[in-house]
Amino acid sequence: MTQAQSDSFEIPDLESLRRLIPKYERPGPRYTSYPTAPVWNEEFGEDSFREALGRAQNRPLSLYIHIPFCERLCSFCACNREINRDHSIAGPYLDALELEAERIAEAIGGERRCIQLAVGGGTPTYLSVPELARMCRIADAHFPPHPDAERSIEIDPRVTTREQLSVLAEHGFNRVSLGVQDMSPKVQRAINRVQPAEQTERVTREARELGFRSVNFDLIYGLPFQTRESFDDTLNQVIDMRPDRIALYSYAHVTWISKQQRGFEKKDLPSAERKLEIFLHANKRLSQAGYLFFGLDHFALPEDELSLAARTGDLRRNFMGYTTKASVDLIGLGASAISELRDSYAQSFRRRTEWEERIRAGRLATMRGWSLSEDDLRRKWLIQRLMCQGEISTAAYEDAFGEPLSARIPSLAEKLAPLVEDGLLAASGEDYELTPTGRLFLRPVAMTFDAYLSEPEPSRPMFSSTL
Ligand code: SF4
Repeated sequence: MTQAQSDSFEIPDLESLRRLIPKYERPGPRYTSYPTAPVWNEEFGEDSFREALGRAQNRPLSLYIHIPFCERLCSFCACNREINRDHSIAGPYLDALELEAERIAEAIGGERRCIQLAVGGGTPTYLSVPELARMCRIADAHFPPHPDAERSIEIDPRVTTREQLSVLAEHGFNRVSLGVQDMSPKVQRAINRVQPAEQTERVTREARELGFRSVNFDLIYGLPFQTRESFDDTLNQVIDMRPDRIALYSYAHVTWISKQQRGFEKKDLPSAERKLEIFLHANKRLSQAGYLFFGLDHFALPEDELSLAARTGDLRRNFMGYTTKASVDLIGLGASAISELRDSYAQSFRRRTEWEERIRAGRLATMRGWSLSEDDLRRKWLIQRLMCQGEISTAAYEDAFGEPLSARIPSLAEKLAPLVEDGLLAASGEDYELTPTGRLFLRPVAMTFDAYLSEPEPSRPMFSSTL
């Protein structure tokens, strides 16, 4: 049983990690895709995407709908969002979404059952009750739901009403993911997101009353003014509310993407060591409270599907984070949305106006993308295996691709030797397993398999820090 599948995670102590921090704290991808988005280019445009859709096999698909609107800007945010208090923009956005759904369904051809629907943003509940109902009708008309479909939506507790949750439940939504981040009033003021615990509690309670079978909380560590002690208070409140899943993300300080983050004073942000300390403490508290840790940053109660998938080796990673839906094509609808097909990625124009313009002109709104080569597919598989199962298995690789791993990654043992020496990987013959320490430095380990990484140019930063 590998570390990523195991039920218990032996938490390393900070002292033993201290010497590794300077070595492994560097910019690096989160690997929600491989190759990562900065590699994609505009040569893969609308025509390439249409062709890729036509080649998509006849298997269930996963649908992601992006609703980019928010009323207020949280200053830590690096999502693709549009701050706008004028809700009249939502109707035309849904008009364009309908055209896009129709066009993509047509390009795929045949009937594709939707096994997973995820709605994210932005703030999906920026939409009114009738608009949410319309969004569901659009999805279902073009991508009929599979009887076992998982349907989830991101919820901002500050703006979500019971009526909105109710219409979502009526349309088959069974999972909600609440943006919580941190419950300390001081941290909340610093990130411009004041959200009293009662709001989070109310939405959690109402979602359960309405029959949602899973509630996820998104938390962030590394925010301004956070300390181990302050985050402990947040954890107390979170554990009391007992969400089924918790995603504990590392704050990404990416000021070249999110200019408002420049408002944070460096002295107020926890150092890499303090961040690690907060993460280790959270890990301990959550494990004492019965949560299992898997992947890079996810926790779930043992009976949750993600925990089960981690144990059976069925965990996968895509743009929505960790998922149980292996081998499905992911179709993204809306501005900036990303589609992931077996052999390609495609991303739509990020700005809502540009996206709408192309859709209204009868086109697909592909801004950039990538066709995966055979080498990409094999390295993607290796990175997935590492991030989801915590192992590098030469036999499993050979089974999957009919070639020895050494043919793909020459001198693998030499490349991995420093990671073994630093205690991030444990070697067993030609195979490797992530150690508990390695799970904390998972992004740098995965970078070993990335063929596109070059020395970072300080003038052109691309990735957040791996710690
Ligand atoms: S964190 Fe969420 S609610 Fe806040 S600005 Fe970003 S997308 Fe909007």
